[in-house]
Amino acid sequence: MMRLIVQKYGGTSVGSPERIQEVAKRIKRWRDKGNQVVVVVSAMSGETNRLIDLINAIHPTGTAREKDVVLSTGEQVTIGLLSLALEKIDCPARSYTGSQANIRTDNAFSKARINSIDEGKMRADLEAGYILVVAGFQGVDNEGNITTLGRGGSDTTAVALAVALKADECQIYTDVDGVYTTDPRVVSTASHIPKMGLEEMLEMASQGSKVLQIRAVEFAYKYNMPIRVLSSFDEGDEGKSTLVTGEEKIMEEVLVRGVAFNRDEAQLTIEGVPDQPGVAYKILGAIAKANIEIDMIVQNVSSAGLTDFTFTVHRNDYDQAKKILCETGKSLGATSCRGDKKIAKISIVGGGMRSHAGVASKMFQALAKEGINIHMISTSEIKVSVVIDEKYLELAVRTLHEAFGLNTV
Ligand code: ADP
Ligand code: ASP
Ligand code: MG
Repeated sequence: MMRLIVQKYGGTSVGSPERIQEVAKRIKRWRDKGNQVVVVVSAMSGETNRLIDLINAIHPTGTAREKDVVLSTGEQVTIGLLSLALEKIDCPARSYTGSQANIRTDNAFSKARINSIDEGKMRADLEAGYILVVAGFQGVDNEGNITTLGRGGSDTTAVALAVALKADECQIYTDVDGVYTTDPRVVSTASHIPKMGLEEMLEMASQGSKVLQIRAVEFAYKYNMPIRVLSSFDEGDEGKSTLVTGEEKIMEEVLVRGVAFNRDEAQLTIEGVPDQPGVAYKILGAIAKANIEIDMIVQNVSSAGLTDFTFTVHRNDYDQAKKILCETGKSLGATSCRGDKKIAKISIVGGGMRSHAGVASKMFQALAKEGINIHMISTSEIKVSVVIDEKYLELAVRTLHEAFGLNTV
């Protein structure tokens, strides 16, 4: 039976004309094995950053709609080039922008969510024997405006297309041959994970492992679509990979699956505010009203009727959040209002934590042994996260990776 495969190639995989031609050959091999193939591509590596720099050179605080018009162009170049590369090797292909593929999103520019995909036209092209090459990271809202899906969003395009087209497999080709116990570029002894659960991957992604965009994993989890992560730099087509699947939860769960980290956050503290009902709402509500997402929050027990709060926000939102916080603080008579951008969040993730105590204390002990101070702690069923000074991040990742026995042997 003919299989339908959705493949996604990230920026490094299509980073040069040579790479694009290599990818075209790989796609042709999959097609020649009797598969229908839909390909999602990112912008060539560095291109999205270049577009952001161009925007910042002109009007960094400009309208989000216009920024998305600029940001979406990177992927349009790649779909055209890859389609041409396929055509050249006698593999008829048709490129699709997000809007041509009818990828409908809400209108939250720069972080839009996919609402629906009308796959009728794509289906007809597939039946006619074309390879489809779809631009990742972009969609169109109900008014026809171009939207983008947030950094790393091509992963989400791929999973959403796989769901809409009821694909047999969703393959994410990148520059590593799968998901590792931590970023292999930070810890060279990180272990390859051949198979893992979507729930654990969801937690790893939300704690900062950028190998898959969190929204892509959310989609896969919701619709039970397995994802295979593999390298476009490997010679073979079915070599080493990681299968991330919903079925994995029935297998035996490991205690700690991996170590994730995030350098994109910043910490804010307000001290000496009255410990009264409504104060948390006044402080955090003002931040939320400005559309700034808060991650971790800690409130101290009160002392002499006063209390303090510490919380984290995305580093991009730090300046604005601090301004709002200090203004609210003034009106509440706070004794101080300060912040720190040079922090990092580090998390251990694993489904087995649900049924085992003592993981958190082992984590704190390992960090203490290295003299690493913890600013904040947050836990859930399957993860423990701490905030530390950014300068200790790499040491902390290596320490925890080792402490939980994750190194390759
Ligand atoms: P692409 O451009 O293909 O989307 P990304 O740079 O977004 O690629 O994602 C791949 C990168 O994710 C790897 O090069 C690796 O450095 C990083 N990474 C972070 N955490 C992990 C992990 N746990 N396992 C594998 N790679 C990881
Ligand atoms: N090109 C976009 C980015 O760099 C989307 C992606 O690569 O997935 O974030
Ligand atoms: Mg990516």
